[in-house]
Amino acid sequence: MAKRILITGAAGFLGSHLCDRFIKEGFEVIGMDNLITGDMKNIDHLLKEETFEFYHYDVTRFVHVAGDLDYILHFASPASPIDYLKIPIQTLKVGSLGILHLLGLAKEKKARILIASTSEVYGDPLVHPQNEDYYGNVNSIGPRGVYDEAKRFQESMTMAYHRFHGVETRIARIFNTYGPRMRLNDGRVIPAFIGQALRGEDLTVFGEGSQTRSFCYVDDQVEGIYRLLLSDYSDPVNIGNPDEITIKQFAEEIIKLTNSTQKIVYEPLPEDDPLKRQPDITRAKNILGWEPKVSRSEGMELTYNYFKGLTKEELFKSEH
Ligand code: NAD
Ligand code: UDP
Repeated sequence: MAKRILITGAAGFLGSHLCDRFIKEGFEVIGMDNLITGDMKNIDHLLKEETFEFYHYDVTRFVHVAGDLDYILHFASPASPIDYLKIPIQTLKVGSLGILHLLGLAKEKKARILIASTSEVYGDPLVHPQNEDYYGNVNSIGPRGVYDEAKRFQESMTMAYHRFHGVETRIARIFNTYGPRMRLNDGRVIPAFIGQALRGEDLTVFGEGSQTRSFCYVDDQVEGIYRLLLSDYSDPVNIGNPDEITIKQFAEEIIKLTNSTQKIVYEPLPEDDPLKRQPDITRAKNILGWEPKVSRSEGMELTYNYFKGLTKEELFKSEH
């Protein structure tokens, strides 16, 4: 019989790609989302599938699903710094009340649960690259604290259910991931730069652009999560691409890719913006036999093609 999986955050960027993958693998998928940062257009194509159901629901309320469940992927949460600064309380609630409800559901259904954690649990890291044994450097009361601490709490709660109730748990520490279906105005650097290039605006680099990030293409990320879910490993695993670049160099790459004539302009660095970030993926390689396959140039080409397909109206629509 087909395995049944609940995916929260299903109408978001990563959640929608995960729904696609699990449908393709023959699972029955229940997508759940309150659409606070997601968009039904990311999963419209799945609504006609017999093996897909969608529940418009807020997981900070008690979560009930009728029938058996084999797996849960908890991906619901605002994920971009602009989003979680705009909706800080909802961010804290989905990482705390939300995880409590989903762990309770996993316990009741004897389902295995994988949670979307993040490189942000390492904060502004003092260890480079970051491996899973590093405890992190997070400012709990800073503006990003609402996200970072919610995710750290989520990890603690998950380990407690694992140790105390024997729930089968998996923790993916996801590093910056990109690709088609990112929201153009979510403020993350890739949609921000590509949107600016397509609108003919200058690219806004924050600070001097010497901070680094390491960008993972969505298909690689989905493969890593798929393997982790099906593994028997319950400690956290970094999933990301170690190919590190400064934000200034990245802006220059995007200007080349989009063949644009705009300049780079500099704006102040947001508070607590991490200066460096690069995953150590030794654990994912050893345990999952996983490593990313898509280079930044291939992944950015695919992503640029997606954004080029947006209508003029979508491109110039402002959310702010
Ligand atoms: P996204 O904003 O595109 O998707 C998040 C989805 O969760 C949205 O559809 C939103 O409507 C939904 N959601 C939020 N609160 C909810 C609630 N209370 N109830 C039901 N649904 C709710 O973001 P994303 O990039 O797809 O991120 C998905 C997950 O992966 C998040 O948990 C995020 O923290 C994690 N993550 C993402 C990245 C990345 O680079 N994309 C990096 C690290 C961690
Ligand atoms: N950034 C930037 N210009 C923008 C948007 C972001 O220079 O228009 C920088 C941001 O300060 C950070 C990096 O790009 O150093 C990645 O930002 P993003 O919001 O994508 O992710 P995160 O900070 O969560 O890694």
